[in-house]
Amino acid sequence: MLNETRQLIRLAAQKAGLNEQAVEQFLNEENLHEFEIEIDGRKYPAFRSQHNSKHGPYKGGIRFHEEVTKDEVKALATLMSLKTAAVGLPLGGGKGGVAINPKTLSIEQLEALSREYVRGLHKHLGPNKDVPAPDVNTNATIMDWMVDEYEKLTGDTSKASFTGKSIKNGGSQGREAATGRGGVFALEQYLKSVGKNEKPISIALQGFGNVGTFFASVAQSRHSNWKIVAVSDSSTCVVDDDGLDTKKLIDLKKKRGRFSDLDLEKKPADQILSTKADVLVLAALGGAVNKNNINDIKADIILELANGPVDHAAEAVIKKPIVIIPDIIANAGGVIVSYLEWVQNCDRQKWSEQKVNIRLEDYIEKAMTAAIDYSKENNASLRQSAIAIALHRLLG
Ligand code: NAD
Repeated sequence: MLNETRQLIRLAAQKAGLNEQAVEQFLNEENLHEFEIEIDGRKYPAFRSQHNSKHGPYKGGIRFHEEVTKDEVKALATLMSLKTAAVGLPLGGGKGGVAINPKTLSIEQLEALSREYVRGLHKHLGPNKDVPAPDVNTNATIMDWMVDEYEKLTGDTSKASFTGKSIKNGGSQGREAATGRGGVFALEQYLKSVGKNEKPISIALQGFGNVGTFFASVAQSRHSNWKIVAVSDSSTCVVDDDGLDTKKLIDLKKKRGRFSDLDLEKKPADQILSTKADVLVLAALGGAVNKNNINDIKADIILELANGPVDHAAEAVIKKPIVIIPDIIANAGGVIVSYLEWVQNCDRQKWSEQKVNIRLEDYIEKAMTAAIDYSKENNASLRQSAIAIALHRLLG
């Protein structure tokens, strides 16, 4: 993953005519912290990559997963530097992780792991140094434990050292929905740029977890002429050419129900990719679209809400008219609202959800407009454009 990430950046930089030496320097992180965390006599490797801080404190999640490796953390931190720069946040890029399966831990062990992670790193964290957030298998409760531990160790009471906290503990309104909502804003901007914003569109949606459900509910509340014609989870794809009742699907998921129990047309999960729709929204897994299935895709627009859902091999063979609205902007809503949480904590303020959403829309609109303009001027894809814009900001 690290090599692929670096290669992607080198290619975009080459196309943008950027100085090769400066790019190579950028690829190396500023700091890498490695240590071990002991839980009941077993030791687990822990990492934090602080990749780039040109624009502000390092920003990026902490994941607890048995497959976490140093290289994965380094690659993800690099991508965070690009993402924060592409959407114009005054933040840098970082990522952390512990190679552990948290599902094997008791709640007490999970809390101990979270607090130990902060004890191992607290000198390198802080509102003006490095501000972690949740990622795979970490959540608001874990951020609350971490910010509490940080406060005990340093006396900092601002809560601005971590984001993604619970609302009662300094979290921001609108954070939970931010990634899905940001995806709707990114799609709106793209449709506007091609003169299709008033037209009816049909959507196929892969993945119906946090991101997919908020994408669906925000899309339906803002656009009566957007029709979600297919939705998939890990086991089933449900289809209705007249448009699915996504509210009903969300209620079903809240009750931990399964799509397979519904009285709707059903297909195997992977058939979502070949659904006839104007837009395919990918909100499940990295690598969902690869060279084995890229030719199945019928949609002209792919909206990437997962990280890296279209892999590099697939993108290399993708043919016009398929346009990818890339993850670096399309799923940046989470980090944008994380930034807004940090601002609220630093200023000791609490904003309404409406104020948060207006700011989120403004960031996505500016980032999409810049990428679309760059792509027209330079005959580049939106991904290459977003990366080039980020690199110009980071290396300039
Ligand atoms: P989640 O765990 O809440 O939901 C994932 C969904 O994907 C589930 O509905 C699951 O059933 C489904 N899924 C898994 N395998 C599938 C398959 N083969 N086909 C169809 N559906 C499948 O996760 P999430 O928070 O919604 O995140 C989704 C993706 O977005 C992840 O890749 C995540 O890294 C990325 N992402 C999330 C955020 C965020 O703020 N949550 C921010 C940026 C990127």
